[in-house]
Amino acid sequence: MRILLVEDEPTLAAQLAAPLRAAGYALDTADNGLDAHFLGDSEDYDAVILDLGLPQMDGITVLRKWRAGGRAMPVLILTARDGWHEKVAGIDAGADDYLAKPFHMEELLARLRALIRRAGGHASAELRCGPLTLDTRNSRVNVAGLNLTLTSHEYRVLAYLLHHPEQVVSRATLTEHLYAQDFERDSNTVEVFIARLRKKLPPGIIETVRGLGYRITCPK
Ligand code: CA
Repeated sequence: MRILLVEDEPTLAAQLAAPLRAAGYALDTADNGLDAHFLGDSEDYDAVILDLGLPQMDGITVLRKWRAGGRAMPVLILTARDGWHEKVAGIDAGADDYLAKPFHMEELLARLRALIRRAGGHASAELRCGPLTLDTRNSRVNVAGLNLTLTSHEYRVLAYLLHHPEQVVSRATLTEHLYAQDFERDSNTVEVFIARLRKKLPPGIIETVRGLGYRITCPK
């Protein structure tokens, strides 16, 4: 899952970035409204964390422009503690959730997980597919009750596919959601991760759709 974090205050940005990366997200960052608008408009994010008070273009304007341009990714806004009017303006501008500063990182991570799974149509924090379960709260993957050890990239591939079950996901899309912007990308490595995942998962769960991509098919 790939996230955009927009926060102009360097200390807070660093405090947020470290646990987001530790939670397994591919993370891009922006520290002003213009860069934020450009990234959100041109890249494909699974969710955005958007501070409202930003230099160059304020967060509400950034959000309005994304929504006016048809960008539908989940957006969680960061507001001032007593800024109820900011929350109202943010939600009206197209925000899906908000957090007032200061907040606990655990709450930010929980709200982010909820936004991402709801965007994929999942109500539960645990994604199931036949004997396979992925717990988005702790990034644990189990097959028939046995814990699987996955690398962070294997986990990202599996998590993305499980958030979009029964859908064909192209290699390009997987690559897009696997790496942060500054990362050297190579769509061939997706094949390597898929091959490694298949060795660890029950046979047949990850299907190759020739020329189109991959699909998770859950036995009923
Ligand atoms: Ca700010």
